[in-house]
Amino acid sequence: RAAVEIGSMGKSYGPTVALDSVTLDLRPGEVHALLGENGAGKSTLVKALSGIVRPDRGTMRIEGRDYRPRSILDARSSGVATAFQELSLLPNLSVAENLLLPRLPKRGLGLSSASATCRSAEEILARFDLDHIDPSAPMASLALADRQRIEIARAMLHATRLLVLDEPTAALADVEWLFSLVRAIQAKGTAILYISHRLGEVRALCDRATVLRNGRSIATVDLAGASDAR
Ligand code: ADP
Ligand code: ADP
Repeated sequence: RAAVEIGSMGKSYGPTVALDSVTLDLRPGEVHALLGENGAGKSTLVKALSGIVRPDRGTMRIEGRDYRPRSILDARSSGVATAFQELSLLPNLSVAENLLLPRLPKRGLGLSSASATCRSAEEILARFDLDHIDPSAPMASLALADRQRIEIARAMLHATRLLVLDEPTAALADVEWLFSLVRAIQAKGTAILYISHRLGEVRALCDRATVLRNGRSIATVDLAGASDAR
């Protein structure tokens, strides 16, 4: 059965119809591209899945259960995490704090123990092949590409059911870093929604693609076999 089901979703901003009727199913472990011109409604759909925007109508289900996230943290607690195009990191906090907060207290590590925080942030950075990043550095001191990598790594840490990647390669020169991580997450059965303007990436990475136009999902196509590399 579907990991994520979106049915007839609609959302308007005042008189502007951002989403008219979007219907979309994601299978477990599938990388599903979301394509569409500027203004098609991609950002609004991402925000609805991420708990930032409340849809006016329609349904969202995760593994068969009604899903109505009220905030980014609420979405995360349902196993849905998003790497935002505009990045959602807190610039004045350290890399470690951005990676570990606010989940840290729940795991009982405690905020007072800065060294414990940094040690486990170091482990996370190593796991994501980001050892060159100092966990105690302020987020704002990192190069844009490293900020984007941290945004992606943090989303991957939390996304047990659905990972949303919104233009994840905008600042990345080395897409292979991202692709190998995506494939590992896919292998664990997490569904991935991949928003990109770069059709070469979509062909190389995605199993299916859905096209949005004027707030409607107008077509879903199978990309299996589209790339010789897979
Ligand atoms: P994208 O690269 O995702 O197409 P956009 O440039 O369309 O980004 O939008 C950037 C941000 O501005 C999004 O968060 C979107 O929701 C918001 N936005 C887009 N159009 C408007 C608008 N007319 N009024 C206010 N916010 C808008
Ligand atoms: P995309 O990400 O595909 O560019 P968006 O979801 O950003 O599409 O935008 C869909 C439509 O909704 C566009 O007409 C956009 O201008 C409008 N829109 C998006 N966000 C807002 C907002 N916060 N306020 C008003 N209009 C918005």
